[in-house]
Amino acid sequence: MDTFADATAGELNSFRDEVRGWIQENFPASLREKIEEYYRTLPRYPEGADWKLWKDRVVQKGWGTPGWPVEYGGGGLSTEQARLLEREYLASGAFNPVEGFGTSMLGPTLLEYGNEQQKQMHLTRVSRGEVRWCQGYSEPGSGSDLASLRTKAEDEGDHYLINGQKIWTSGSRYADWCFCLVRTDQSRKQEGISFILIDMKSKGVDVRPIQLISGQWHFSEVFFTDVKVPKENLVGQLNKGWSIAKRLLQFERNTVTDNRFSVAGDVRPLSVVARDYVEIDASGQIANKDLRARIAKHMMDFRSLQLLQRRMLDETRDGRGPNESASVIKNAKARLTQEREELLIEIMGVQGLGWEGDEFSQIEKDTTRVFLFDKAMSIYSGTTEIQNNIIAKRTLGLLDHQ
Ligand SMILES: Cc1cc2nc3c(=O)[nH]c(=O)nc-3n(C[C@H](O)[C@H](O)[C@H](O)COP(=O)(O)OP(=O)(O)OC[C@H]3O[C@@H](n4cnc5c(N)ncnc54)[C@H](O)[C@@H]3O)c2cc1C
Repeated sequence: MDTFADATAGELNSFRDEVRGWIQENFPASLREKIEEYYRTLPRYPEGADWKLWKDRVVQKGWGTPGWPVEYGGGGLSTEQARLLEREYLASGAFNPVEGFGTSMLGPTLLEYGNEQQKQMHLTRVSRGEVRWCQGYSEPGSGSDLASLRTKAEDEGDHYLINGQKIWTSGSRYADWCFCLVRTDQSRKQEGISFILIDMKSKGVDVRPIQLISGQWHFSEVFFTDVKVPKENLVGQLNKGWSIAKRLLQFERNTVTDNRFSVAGDVRPLSVVARDYVEIDASGQIANKDLRARIAKHMMDFRSLQLLQRRMLDETRDGRGPNESASVIKNAKARLTQEREELLIEIMGVQGLGWEGDEFSQIEKDTTRVFLFDKAMSIYSGTTEIQNNIIAKRTLGLLDHQ
């Protein structure tokens, strides 16, 4: 159990009691059985009366976007309280029903860079769970070298005209809006990029899904052909979108670093899973000493990561939000997640390779899919190598700054 050792310990501990009581009282019992289904359905929202009831209750309290100001539908909680709430959702088998790219990436970015009209319009709708967002950054040939992007926005007087293609756009099949990087000056690289908000129902937006090795239709190609976007959808200044884009990536990496492994598949500690699949010796330990040692090392590394995350949170308590250290944690999290899933499959043996059929439980089949999906963790939000470059430049000062 977490304890809080600083001056606010008493307040936080009593807030945790309040949160636990509230979730206990308000999270519909019927949804407890459906948590796996919920995460399997994402990025769509599931349907049904209980789901709606839970969403309405969370939204009314502002606890879908707990750290946002109350005037934009948030809960007005401190960073620690908001984190604590998110942890309690997980620990109690509940979930945040409005979670998505709008809450984790666009919202915090708009709070820093958006004008009042944009905050009123977009933050409020995100905090009510009324809209879903996708991220239009990557393009064919512009992934790691994102600033080479070519999708262009031309000034047509009262609107911009957008033409180009995005790729790997997660959740775009179900998204209502896209926060997008576009080129507004051909003669400069980073300084020719703007950050713009595009309504996915606009004429000229074409979404073509791509299937992942895990079987999911997680992302798509998105084509823009003569899409008209009102000028008020530009965030910040023209040609100043690169700084906004990088800030949003810090928020994105911060979510990848949250305090949990996958939410689907077998989420129990490895030492517990092992008891169902491998030989246990007379003293109650995993008989295979090599496997036992690797599981123990993995669990200790994960505990170290949790402590590092706690330290990072302490460092950002002044409200400045995530910084370059998000890259350190993102890499460690990706490595440990993939290591955990390799170990899981090894422990489960043939049962860890289930795809379909009655000889595998649903959890075993989900584990296989999560194992495959999480291979992407060292790619999305910027690859491991790109995080290493950021750490070398910005954290360790090893290279000249660009
Ligand atoms: C599951 C998933 C979801 C995604 N969702 C989105 C999304 O919603 N929106 C979006 O815009 N994008 C999304 N992406 C795209 C993702 O951001 C890119 O795949 C990623 O940035 C890498 O770009 P790339 O695929 O073009 O690879 P490349 O940039 O071509 O890289 C290929 C390899 O070269 C290495 N490399 C490249 N440059 C350097 C360098 N300077 N130094 C060292 N090594 C280098 C990379 O590390 C990588 O191993 C998603 C990707 C995945 C897998």
